[in-house]
Amino acid sequence: MKSLEQGLDRRAIIWIMNWTFSGTAGCTAVALLITYYYIAPFGGEVMATSMRLALFIPLLLAIPLFAFIGIKLQQLAHANDLLTLASRYDGLTGCLNRAAFTSDVTAFFAEQDLKLSPAMSALMVLDADHFKRINDCHGHLAGDQALVAIATEMREAVGNNGRVGRLGGEEFGVFVFHARPETIGAMAERIRLAVAERGQAIAPGAEPVTVSVGVALFTYPAQYEDIFKIADDQLYLAKNTGRNRVCLVEYSRLPGDIKAMASQLREGLAGALTDAFRSGLDDRGEEPSRVAGR
Ligand code: GH3
Ligand code: MG
Ligand code: MG
Repeated sequence: MKSLEQGLDRRAIIWIMNWTFSGTAGCTAVALLITYYYIAPFGGEVMATSMRLALFIPLLLAIPLFAFIGIKLQQLAHANDLLTLASRYDGLTGCLNRAAFTSDVTAFFAEQDLKLSPAMSALMVLDADHFKRINDCHGHLAGDQALVAIATEMREAVGNNGRVGRLGGEEFGVFVFHARPETIGAMAERIRLAVAERGQAIAPGAEPVTVSVGVALFTYPAQYEDIFKIADDQLYLAKNTGRNRVCLVEYSRLPGDIKAMASQLREGLAGALTDAFRSGLDDRGEEPSRVAGR
């Protein structure tokens, strides 16, 4: 993570230079105008000397003053960025912290509930196996390294299609925005295998680093708390059936046939709405394609 001691970057230095230049130019212009207005009647030498003073005094004072204020403003902006980062991200693993993860995922749930054809999503809850023993056998530093490795594997697997959060201790959450039943199990399995492989390098020998994964693959409408509970139950199932494994369940609040009917209805309704929208535009003589593309 970036630190406050870090020097100002190029963008900040350019901003400070612009700010100092504009501020100084503004002050000098005002000083010259006021001096001209009041001293012009005296004319000649008095006028020339006064205008020179009105030019040099603001230059002398404004340049260091604006530069100083500019530097302080940039440092404040940098400190604000760091605070935002610290309030959202976990310092060790770089994952979202629990509060930020929950808030991002809950917001996505709310968005989907308003859609006619919401995505199918997946929530994974991962927990490092026998992590206490890893610490005891290999030391806390190796334990920390293992947590960073687990986080890296999860982020690589999910990419931009989700969020990865550290829920606490050696427990993580992975939310996949758009999940397909045929790929989500493979994704969880890939994370599990990759962790086991990396774990060997960090903590070789009798206590390997592995993870158990509980996955809830679900359709909307859904409540985050319900889905979390379902994924968490799957995690406990994985723990109780030998660890270092993935347990997945598919969940929909609607029973199978109603679910299929609902999705057909949604698609039909979406199609009907689009047609109605297009014909409405046609009636008004507008080009549908242009307006639909807005
Ligand atoms: P299980 O397979 O049942 O999950 O067993 P476990 O040992 O992983 O579970 P337990 O809850 O008993 O222990 C969790 C351990 O995780 C204890 C704690 O020291 C360790 N831990 C939590 N956070 C960190 C951390 O940030 N760094 C390190 N090195 N260890 C951590
Ligand atoms: Mg554990
Ligand atoms: Mg745990």
